[in-house]
Amino acid sequence: MKQNIRSLTRDTLERWLKDMGQPRFRADQILKWLYHHSVRSWDAMGNLPRSLRESLATSFDLDLPGFVEVRGAADSTRKFLWKLADGALIESVLIPANPAAHGGASARKTLCVSSQVGCAYGCRFCASGLEGWKRHLTPAEMVGQVLATEAWLDREATEASASDDPNSNRPRGRWIDNLVFMGMGEPLANYENLLKGLAVLNADWGMGIGARRITISTSGLAPQIQQLADEPPQFRLAISLHGPTDEVREKIMPINRRYPLDRLVEACDYYTRKRGKRVTLEYILIEGVNDEIHLTESLAALAQRLRAKVNLIPYNRVDGLSWHRPSETQQESFCRALKERGVNVTLRREKGHDIEAACGQLRLRAEREASGAVPAN
Ligand code: SAH
Ligand code: SF4
Repeated sequence: MKQNIRSLTRDTLERWLKDMGQPRFRADQILKWLYHHSVRSWDAMGNLPRSLRESLATSFDLDLPGFVEVRGAADSTRKFLWKLADGALIESVLIPANPAAHGGASARKTLCVSSQVGCAYGCRFCASGLEGWKRHLTPAEMVGQVLATEAWLDREATEASASDDPNSNRPRGRWIDNLVFMGMGEPLANYENLLKGLAVLNADWGMGIGARRITISTSGLAPQIQQLADEPPQFRLAISLHGPTDEVREKIMPINRRYPLDRLVEACDYYTRKRGKRVTLEYILIEGVNDEIHLTESLAALAQRLRAKVNLIPYNRVDGLSWHRPSETQQESFCRALKERGVNVTLRREKGHDIEAACGQLRLRAEREASGAVPAN
């Protein structure tokens, strides 16, 4: 299979052009077609010589992830299922801007993107790990989720066919100004591709999404957290903690055996010192597993040591798993107990519960439906 051109950073594209005997300014022209106009055909790149368009077509692919389906939730969260060139299915979740945080209705949105097909880490509560790991996503497949979602939003907004036309030169709508790598997969296990994808998403010559508006979520790959701390751009980091002691964490996250809490905290410390940036601790509340009030003592100690903010997320049920979210009273008591211990904590409001928005759930259902394991509804 040919490499997708959206996996290339500007440097690599310039090198390729040089090898083809092309002037450097062609890189700017191509990048503008790719990320400003979001064209889907080489022929649409009107200011390039025909011979160059032909060479590009011989060397690279240009496809975006193919749209399979979208599901909407009552709170206007949208979940997309995409099909990749090899038939693999991945998901992205579009989350509307919070009007309160933006001082009024805002068209800008957050997209939750996937970084792998499936996941090898097998956290017991998570749908993404249920069917194992299939492969890494390429940089182009990460970037493509954003472009394909924006194209869908364009189409929805205009309801006209202009943006469907591969030869359309209309600039793409800039809808998405926040990214979270909280979809399917473990982003730091796909480190090299992740960094290339981030370069395209962040650069002015690419998608231009500010590094401070890009959050990478990890289940706790300590060495890669340290490596990320040494990279120049200021991306945000979220740690999926879910257990404040090794005993609790080990039960639900196998990765804790490889990198126990001490090691994870050491890596987060390094990140915080090196970056001058605090990490966020994500904590899913699961009934009877990690929601006992006495656990707030060790959670508060960890948060204070890292000067980290804690995000409490009520568990989303996954078909075939027997985990439940605690009652609202229990969620609130847990949150209050942390506040009383001086922790900066938020309890996340419902987002997309009714569309199986937790990572991996929609793909899992689609694959099970395709294999006849559950009836389609
Ligand atoms: N692998 C990375 C990023 C993807 S998971 C990580 O684990 O951080 C993104 C977030 O979704 C994680 O915090 C994960 O624990 C959470 N998550 C997974 N399944 C969930 C579920 N059923 N309900 C709520 N959150 C879930
Ligand atoms: Fe993988 Fe993250 Fe799901 Fe764990 S929570 S199985 S690391 S996607």
